Amino acid sequence: MSSDLIPDDDSAANVAVMRDALRRPLHDLRISVLDQCNFRCPYCMPEDEFHADYEFLRKQQRLSYNEVLKIARVAARLGVSKMRLTGGEPLLDKHLSTLVTGLAEIPGVDDLALTTNAMLLAPVAQQLADAGLHRVTVSLDSLDEDVFRRMSGGRGNLAQVLEGLDAAQEAGLTPIKINVVVQRGVNDHTVLDLLEHFRGSGHIVRLIEFMDVGNRNGWRLDQVVPSRQLLDLMRTRWQLRRMDQNYPGEVARRYEYVDGQGEIGFISSVTEPFCGSCSRARLSADGMLYTCLFANQGTDLRESLRNDADDEELTNILSQIWLQRADRYSELRRPEMAEAHVLRKVEMYRIGG
Ligand code: SAM
Ligand code: SF4
Ligand code: SF4
Repeated sequence: MSSDLIPDDDSAANVAVMRDALRRPLHDLRISVLDQCNFRCPYCMPEDEFHADYEFLRKQQRLSYNEVLKIARVAARLGVSKMRLTGGEPLLDKHLSTLVTGLAEIPGVDDLALTTNAMLLAPVAQQLADAGLHRVTVSLDSLDEDVFRRMSGGRGNLAQVLEGLDAAQEAGLTPIKINVVVQRGVNDHTVLDLLEHFRGSGHIVRLIEFMDVGNRNGWRLDQVVPSRQLLDLMRTRWQLRRMDQNYPGEVARRYEYVDGQGEIGFISSVTEPFCGSCSRARLSADGMLYTCLFANQGTDLRESLRNDADDEELTNILSQIWLQRADRYSELRRPEMAEAHVLRKVEMYRIGG
């Protein structure tokens, strides 16, 4: 490898850290296990596009667990310590705990998480915890039954999602984060009630600005509620104070209730981009590696794997991709460009957020 692999005194083990063209290390790998989903959230997989005849990946097109584990091991050796399983809806994979077991055994992985809509979580939460999963992030956009149902594309059952949350808590998959995508005129009027509900629960609610990911969700800037506005709104009800980052590169801006009732995060990719500290790579279910959520191209690792690439070859491929990485879409975003869909971007359900 090259001189870009420089010793980094920040790292616990003081080992060589690989940095991209903008000097960002590789710390996180998001693994999308499948592209299918039991929801049709209009901001992610709108029903009219993802209809009954839509062709999702077939099993042989998806990476096998062994293929995923091979890539994950190489990524861990290159510095990845955080891994997250996502999708589509990862819990549609009935054998997910087998993959979790394999990932949990990889040396250097000290944070193994799952992002899910939690509809199918209750029956498997303990099994996943036993397999080595550390924690879950649950996507839950509103506690208003009608709004929730609409935002899941008419497919979600709120009571079942809340059962999933409870089961995750009981299984120790904590701290649980709750992701709320806020859309103006859709669920913004229900955000304070949701926050009130989870105050004191130990769960960390994260308010996410609606992003122009992919090309199919009809994103418009006027549907984005800037985090700053939400913060002002919250301050009409509660006293809040800013918290320090947990670690460099954390994407959420953290606040806590002054009365000790917990933490809230803001993910403000549109109004306050954080590309400067973005340390994530994303692997799609069919083995494409993307270095940005807004990427319009990736690298086909499945082809290499199926042409018998060994670990050394994969290490070279991954490190070359990372060393050349210069993505900073959110910092360069021009809303009028995104709205016109000038760029063909990868869809969120393929790379999992
Ligand atoms: N199905 C799982 C879920 O919903 O948790 C995992 C995959 S989903 C693509 C991952 C996350 O991306 C969810 O929290 C979802 O709310 C978020 N997401 C999807 N489309 C988005 C968009 N356009 N803007 C912001 N977040 C989005
Ligand atoms: Fe499915 Fe998650 Fe996308 Fe909603 S956000 S459609 S639950 S993948
Ligand atoms: Fe990272 Fe791309 Fe998002 Fe910037 S736009 S924070 S580089 S994923």
